[in-house]
Amino acid sequence: MARTDTDSWDLASSVGATATMVAAARAIASTEPNALIDDPYAADLVRKVGLEFFTKLVDGDIALDGDDAAAAGLMVSMMAVRTRFFDDFFCDAAGAGIRQAVILAAGLDSRAYRLGWPAGTVVYEIDQPRVIEAKTAAMAEIGASPTAERRTVAVDLRDDWPAALHAAGFDAATPTAWIAEGLLVYLPPEAQDRLFDNITALSARGSRLATEYHPDITSTLRGRGQAMSERWRDHGFDVDLSDLWYGGDRNAADEYLAGHGWQVSTRPRPEVFAAYGRTFPDLTLTGDDNAAMRQSVAITATRS
Ligand code: SAM
Repeated sequence: MARTDTDSWDLASSVGATATMVAAARAIASTEPNALIDDPYAADLVRKVGLEFFTKLVDGDIALDGDDAAAAGLMVSMMAVRTRFFDDFFCDAAGAGIRQAVILAAGLDSRAYRLGWPAGTVVYEIDQPRVIEAKTAAMAEIGASPTAERRTVAVDLRDDWPAALHAAGFDAATPTAWIAEGLLVYLPPEAQDRLFDNITALSARGSRLATEYHPDITSTLRGRGQAMSERWRDHGFDVDLSDLWYGGDRNAADEYLAGHGWQVSTRPRPEVFAAYGRTFPDLTLTGDDNAAMRQSVAITATRS
């Protein structure tokens, strides 16, 4: 279904279902031999959402073969590397003394429950109200306890989220570590700029930011989204990812940040894979331009 300026969702529908999809990939990645990540909550969180395809996937109750198995494997490897990249970003920021973290579009991110945050760290999680509510309830049912002081901010990132963040106790005078993981494609181009403007205004000197940026959403990424959605539709997951992404020209996140007072460092996805001793999979899948996934750029930035 096409996006609207005021659309909303839960973890089983529209953009919310993508949070469940990536959590399923994290659950599987956590069980691999020589796993890069360990997310002990992902599988239970996915089961609690109750989308049959992803529940079967994490429980190993679905037999994928051929290109379907290869496509699922690619998604799992990408999420393993991506998760580790953002985990390491927070650990480095904590090592540098930062005690305030903000997870934008938190979805089923369990970092507030599984990373070894230094004492005194406050972690803010921002997402739409139904997502926050369901994740908080699911974690309580699982019996998980946060490893930092977790504060939730239930708000749409196209609305006045800085006001909501302040209301939750955020301190703009303290350096902050921000992540925007798996978010930018779901924001219209101007909302992406506004997001970075707001982050910049809220970031004391020394604050850090990590995100991922895809330079060509309109053609290469959209084609891949459609191919992936067709693949999963055959297995009962009927959300067209490419309908959820905003195409059109947008500012390159790295250049935009560099122009707004951030020292920016970028790495193409295959380099991030290599840094973790992995090779970006070289697959040719029917009707699926997996080359698009190579083009993603991992960004870290420091407010100067
Ligand atoms: N960052 C999480 C992760 O990597 O596991 C979730 C990523 S999921 C692909 C996209 C997330 O973005 C969803 O949780 C969705 O609710 C959130 N999101 C997208 N647009 C949003 C908006 N306008 N306001 C609040 N949350 C939004």
